[in-house]
Amino acid sequence: MANEELKFDTLKIRGAYNSAEHNYAASVPIYETAAFDLGSAERAGNLFSFSELGFIYSRVGNPTTNVLEQRVAALDGAAGAVAVGSGMAAVTYALFNVAENGGRILTTPYLYGGTIDSFKKIYPKFGVGIDKSENFHNPEELPKDIKPDTKAIFVESISNPNAVVADLEALAKVAHDHDIPLIVDNTFATPYLLNPIKYGADIVIYSATKALGGHGNSIAGLILESGKFNWGNGKFPQFSEELDYTLRDSEGKSRTFLEVFPEAPFTWRVRKNYLAYFGAALSPFNAYLTLIGIETLSERIQKQVENTKKIIDYLEDNDKVEWIKHPFAKDNPYKELAEKYVPKGAGSIFSFGFKGTDEQINKFLNTIKLFNYHTNVGDVRSLIINSPKTTHGELTREEQEFSDIAPNTVRISVGLEDPQDLIADLDQAFEAASKNN
Ligand SMILES: *Cc1c(COP(=O)(O)O)cnc(C)c1O
Repeated sequence: MANEELKFDTLKIRGAYNSAEHNYAASVPIYETAAFDLGSAERAGNLFSFSELGFIYSRVGNPTTNVLEQRVAALDGAAGAVAVGSGMAAVTYALFNVAENGGRILTTPYLYGGTIDSFKKIYPKFGVGIDKSENFHNPEELPKDIKPDTKAIFVESISNPNAVVADLEALAKVAHDHDIPLIVDNTFATPYLLNPIKYGADIVIYSATKALGGHGNSIAGLILESGKFNWGNGKFPQFSEELDYTLRDSEGKSRTFLEVFPEAPFTWRVRKNYLAYFGAALSPFNAYLTLIGIETLSERIQKQVENTKKIIDYLEDNDKVEWIKHPFAKDNPYKELAEKYVPKGAGSIFSFGFKGTDEQINKFLNTIKLFNYHTNVGDVRSLIINSPKTTHGELTREEQEFSDIAPNTVRISVGLEDPQDLIADLDQAFEAASKNN
């Protein structure tokens, strides 16, 4: 059956895989090989001129990794996908691919700490400008921040660590009115809770390290494209004008990415330029682990969303908690957007304000037993961390303020354990922390 006819829960287990093409192996095999034999001089010629698509070298493509790419593309309704070695590689390759050669990215204050810090340290040195707008809550004001060389709008659909929800439809409209794409980091939501392409996103990014893989065992990233954006609109000569000799036809004539890959020029260009030459390839083994994780994506996220609700209920009744930032916590300003974009739940990652001194926060973290104290999120295990000192510790206090990260922020990522055990663990740690002084 074609992918389009199958529902999400079938695709997550069977999408993009035909066992008959893999010695009838029921589980996707791990192709641990650096290179693939070319077979004959004629076939080599065909592969290198793209008249035949096939695997050549695992830095640019591998059959295990390819199933992962095509499966996630099916889950998100994407026309193309490329897997890379980490979520950071996915963010960087996607943004460089669109804004290289002096372009600018318009973005929000509400982003993953590594993304914010790379925007400050790396992008300007590669000639890519970053503009952080405060107008993301008023998309009608956003056009003021778009400059002639702005090449994309970039947001997280549900942000790290405070779960700010982006109004994707409104942002896509602003982007498209200005002939630029909307790029969405959908890591926290996963394709189970939200398909950004449905709301007009042109490029979708994942850190598959997080909830997509879900088992905290491998670093992985993905870039998807909708196939709907017009890369030939004159603003993106790298797709429509730049002639590339590695894309030559059988007569040796150089071609553009848009000519050779009209359905998915963006991900093919990431693959052939950034993955090939910056080289952050995903190992087939980690692609396999990610595929295994995706097989239970819906079941995991459903239970994590349920557990999250119970933990938020507990924290809302706790006098040592100053505030909770999750769209479905009391009086959260993003509730309406969350009801529209993530009706099945706004994920299992949120933050709360610890009412107490720094010493008490430390005591609380040191006394937690079940929650792992570390930087990952979206794991089957519940995790906890003091973001301003760790995941967002690269940011100065002013930058943290701009990103709405209070000094007493504690981030929780809720796993699959029994919620009563998790609540009891939090309770004993709050108790211990309050006894400290
Ligand atoms: C973790 C994360 C990243 C970076 O992904 P890695 O796989 O750790 O490189 C990017 N964006 C968001 C929202 C993240 O949470």
